[in-house]
Amino acid sequence: MDAAALPFPDRDLLAECALCPRECRAARSAGELGWCRTGADLSLGAICLHRGEEPAIGGRHGIANLFFTRCNLCCVHCQNHEISRTRGPIEERETTLREALDEVEALLAGGVRHVGFVSASHAVPQALGLLRALAERRPRPVLVWNSNAYEKPETLRMLTGLVDVFLPDFKYADGDLAERLSGAPDYPEVAARAIREMARQKGTNLLLDDGGLAESGLLVRHLVLPGHVENSLACLRFLAADLGPSVPISLLAQYEPIPAVAGDPDLGRRLRPEEYEAVVKEAVRLGFFRGYTQSLAEAPAHYSPAFRSRHPFEEHDRR
Ligand code: SF4
Repeated sequence: MDAAALPFPDRDLLAECALCPRECRAARSAGELGWCRTGADLSLGAICLHRGEEPAIGGRHGIANLFFTRCNLCCVHCQNHEISRTRGPIEERETTLREALDEVEALLAGGVRHVGFVSASHAVPQALGLLRALAERRPRPVLVWNSNAYEKPETLRMLTGLVDVFLPDFKYADGDLAERLSGAPDYPEVAARAIREMARQKGTNLLLDDGGLAESGLLVRHLVLPGHVENSLACLRFLAADLGPSVPISLLAQYEPIPAVAGDPDLGRRLRPEEYEAVVKEAVRLGFFRGYTQSLAEAPAHYSPAFRSRHPFEEHDRR
């Protein structure tokens, strides 16, 4: 595909890319690749219906998720590794904005209200083209920014008025752990600044419609990692102190080891009930009262999506 032919109004941002905190200054629009190994075209791992998000995100119809390929973080345990890794081949397809919009439109025609942008932090110019088109659609879908929070406030400000719901992770409060697992020792401070910007734009609540579906706001996710409960407790303490315990949180227990971490004594196993219970107990102690927990007993046998399939979540929705 000829990148120059793509109608991205913001492609100048890719001339010397500093979209994310890595600030590689790669000339992506001229074919150079930076840390994220992502070009200037629109590359997606999947556009698909997902019924496994939190109940307010999608509801019974599910959310139309656009999974962007590659990543600016690349966690060693990433459950979307088939499309996210920055080295080696991935499952991907280049598409045009029009083709992507047509696929989303087909899902919206089936009653879907939410459209999710999953891991688009390093592809903001490409995402902006889609966001603007969808924001003008009537009825307007609820546009959800589902990110790792390794993002710059000034880049997030480009999304002002377009994103309805911010759905960031807060992965690490421990910089050493962030370096070891995601190559980002500054993750705690960077993510804190990013989530503050999201809260500035959308507040620290998740507003629901009469049917219980999210319309606007912020929901912070945290995936509890096996063997790293202290990090989870520190994340909760930070969120309570920084945003206040009224901020909605989603504590995820669905961690599933991928082959890359099979030999790791912690990341090579599932989460134990007592680890998750310790994290939930701390959330209650800190006064969090909005959000979601998961039941380990009801956790699916397999969570990791299969991006080789046209319907990556068909056989194992998250909740
Ligand atoms: S988005 Fe990619 S190329 Fe741009 S600064 Fe971040 S890692 Fe580097």
